[in-house]
Amino acid sequence: MSEHRTCPHCSIELDSWIGPPESMWGEIFVCNNNECTYYLSSNDCLTEQGAKESLAFRYAVDPMNDNKPFNLLSWMPPSIREKAREYMDSIDSTP
Ligand SMILES: [Zn+2]
Repeated sequence: MSEHRTCPHCSIELDSWIGPPESMWGEIFVCNNNECTYYLSSNDCLTEQGAKESLAFRYAVDPMNDNKPFNLLSWMPPSIREKAREYMDSIDSTP
């Protein structure tokens, strides 16, 4: 396996990110792409579960845990939320 990590949802290279000390994460790799379909569609299911509209999941992997993917909860600004809604609409309209 190479050290080259990419997001399976948008094929963009993951960014290295050091978690806060209290999280015990150490270094993780995150998809910071605001166009990522995973990120855009996660807002919809989070709001369905009653979460605040401004939250979404980013795709992330944890190298300390066999590079297992997990959901990194993150802030979604209103401008992107609009894009996310358009994206979800475009999915809904396809049969
Ligand atoms: Zn992505």
